[in-house]
Amino acid sequence: MRLTNPDIPPEWQSAYRDFQRQRERLFTIFGAWLLLATMVAYHFSHELRGVRPPEPWSLEHLLRLPVYLSIGLALLSHWTGVPGWHPKVFLRMMSTSLMLMMLGLFLVYFQDKPGGVPQVSEGLMISFFGVTMMATRGLRDWLVQFLPPLLLFVIAATLLRISPADLVPHLFGPTAMLAVGLITSETLRRLGNHQFVNEQEVKQLATTDQLTGLLNRHAFLPLIHHEMDRARRRSERSFCLIMGDLDNFKRVNDTHGHEVGDLVLRETAVRVSASLRQQDVLCRWGGEELLILLPETGPTGGLEVARKIRAAMADQPMQVNGIRIRQTISLGVACFDGERAPEQLITRADNALYGAKAAGRNRVVMAPGKETGATPGSGHSGLG
Ligand code: GH3
Ligand code: MG
Ligand code: MG
Repeated sequence: MRLTNPDIPPEWQSAYRDFQRQRERLFTIFGAWLLLATMVAYHFSHELRGVRPPEPWSLEHLLRLPVYLSIGLALLSHWTGVPGWHPKVFLRMMSTSLMLMMLGLFLVYFQDKPGGVPQVSEGLMISFFGVTMMATRGLRDWLVQFLPPLLLFVIAATLLRISPADLVPHLFGPTAMLAVGLITSETLRRLGNHQFVNEQEVKQLATTDQLTGLLNRHAFLPLIHHEMDRARRRSERSFCLIMGDLDNFKRVNDTHGHEVGDLVLRETAVRVSASLRQQDVLCRWGGEELLILLPETGPTGGLEVARKIRAAMADQPMQVNGIRIRQTISLGVACFDGERAPEQLITRADNALYGAKAAGRNRVVMAPGKETGATPGSGHSGLG
């Protein structure tokens, strides 16, 4: 079944899938325990209900088997965490087997033990409600879970020549409960979706820079951590950082105003993004400083990307508010060299950037390191 939700923006669909799975996992676990408790209580309740207990190997017992089996599988998969088994599968198995059992029991009692029919009707009410709640993905889900057992029920009732008019009085309560369940389940689903969207919005506000739409410093650091762990585990997986800082940006603000400065920052974000690959991550590190993470990239690749960014800025003047501005950028490149903490690598990139500024701006400097075989202070630099 499709897990996308039209109310959720495309960029959140993958997070929404995780959210939905989590919700279904909870429903599966709680549902399984609740169902197990009800089944056991029901098993020992014949005397209390004044109904004759079923014969061994009777249809009544057989109808219970799939329910116990699906509960067992659901709990087992939860404990062992069987990979690839979606909680939805267990919710489906539990609800379908429960429906088959209750509707089957209803027919058995209707035919053989009329005294027990009110009680089975009550049981049917409870299970209708429960099964409706298990339709965690809305109406389509509900139809898939309900229609096959209901269809079987109608066929069996017809074969047993039970008149619908005789059935209706006993099915009034269950049907009402079905409506209550549907409304409750839809309300819960919408509340959950609202909660999801709110959480995503807060998360987005907390992790992105509002002016440029780029990731902020807070969201970026964990990504470097992650990349460092990967590079340490597999030595062939190196990565680089590029630190960039706009040249003489204060002058732009002073000459044209802060608003134009803001637009230059936005255009910079667009140009730099266009120079990167999909897997590269761009962050607004500070006022007019950018930090870029290049996964699975060595010094040669890192230098190449930085040069591309420099050219993307310098080769074409910007048009902002009708003003032509030639805004250049200086960049420092540092590739992972066994550093323990992200800050150490960032400092190397920052020092390289400082070198680029000192050498006259609008250029790229590679931080010296073991990998480049260079000694401190002798980084590569150049305009192209
Ligand atoms: P350098 O080449 O040495 O980097 O010169 P610079 O003028 O760019 O110097 P510096 O990096 O110290 O100045 C950064 C300026 O960026 C100062 C600040 O007014 C401006 N700035 C920082 N954040 C923003 C912002 O969000 N919008 C605007 N318009 N300006 C900003
Ligand atoms: Mg600057
Ligand atoms: Mg700066």
